[in-house]
Amino acid sequence: MAKFIVPKEIFHGLGSLENLKGLKGKKAVIVIGGNSVKANGSLERTEKYLKEANIESVVFSGVEADPSIDTVLKGADFFTQEQPDVIVGLGGCSAIDAAKAMWIYYEYPDSKLEELAAPFAVKPMRNKAYFVAIPSTSGTGTEMTGLSVITDKEKGTKYPIVSHELTPDVAIIDGELCASMPAHVTANTGLDVLSHGVEAYVSNIADRYNDSLAKGAIDLVFKTLPTVIEEPNNLEARQVMHDASCMAGMAFTNVWLGIVHSMSHQIGGTFGIPHGCGNAILMPNVTRFNSKVTDKYADLAGLFGKSTAEDFAQEIEALRSSVGVVGSLKEYGISQEDWDAKLDRMTENAMKDPCTLFNPRKPKFEEIKAIYQACYEGVAVKL
Ligand SMILES: [Zn+2]
Repeated sequence: MAKFIVPKEIFHGLGSLENLKGLKGKKAVIVIGGNSVKANGSLERTEKYLKEANIESVVFSGVEADPSIDTVLKGADFFTQEQPDVIVGLGGCSAIDAAKAMWIYYEYPDSKLEELAAPFAVKPMRNKAYFVAIPSTSGTGTEMTGLSVITDKEKGTKYPIVSHELTPDVAIIDGELCASMPAHVTANTGLDVLSHGVEAYVSNIADRYNDSLAKGAIDLVFKTLPTVIEEPNNLEARQVMHDASCMAGMAFTNVWLGIVHSMSHQIGGTFGIPHGCGNAILMPNVTRFNSKVTDKYADLAGLFGKSTAEDFAQEIEALRSSVGVVGSLKEYGISQEDWDAKLDRMTENAMKDPCTLFNPRKPKFEEIKAIYQACYEGVAVKL
């Protein structure tokens, strides 16, 4: 038995931002990051469409990358002052993740971050407001998921808040908003989408519903990511990548992810490697490791008329290099000394990451370490 949870309304397609005109409500707070949504006009259009829906709007700006609890609390105070009945997260993953956490503190002002990070800790939401997610990058799929990652900078810890209560009510998947993404962000976030599709597809709780979404997203990324890198203004292709991100997000919010993410969380936190880039370096070797217990990677090779997991691992490597992402952690610029000093701690933490629970093959400490080492060197792992 299983349950499938996604937003109630998903508007998608070029120009679909216009569907804001049909929203119900009195007052919205729009949560944004920096200037990109101002510069590309999407904030102005959001405000205009809300006005046409007779919804007054105010803006909370300044959400940083890896949003902090301080920013979340500031936002929640702003919500309390403004009393919105609609929360709009507009922008990249950080803006939407922060808006979700502000929403919790608005509904439950006495919340504590450490407690929220425990399973099932989020109480029933929507007593004061409902949530609209409008992503402007095609990557994390946060517009589909019950996930928000908040950082306590004083403690140097990232807290994932996981609850289907946080799944947005409305999501708008409009590829026009992604046209201003720079090439390296397009490449990294696009490879993150691929990793969501692949890890959901091989998850140890995968099912048919999520398999079809995950495999569909994987196929779209392979066919489209090189095109959006070469033709950044090709809006049709941008929309395809935005849809792929959303489809992969629908799958992984229901069946979760595996050790590509467990391991990438560590190299991201330790060496500051962009999430999608770290995933892309890890994915081929995790494919080789996991393929000993599942034939699903061999099945994915069928998308290319091929038949083995090794074929699929090599297709990932070819895509990665075609979009300009490095093939090893050494090439990324991590020194041998630094790597050797941190490898054991990263391995321990990756073992404890919740994503490890959903990986198809249960890894041992030495195995994770060997995968890390092979990815540092840029060689194929043999386990
Ligand atoms: Zn990811």
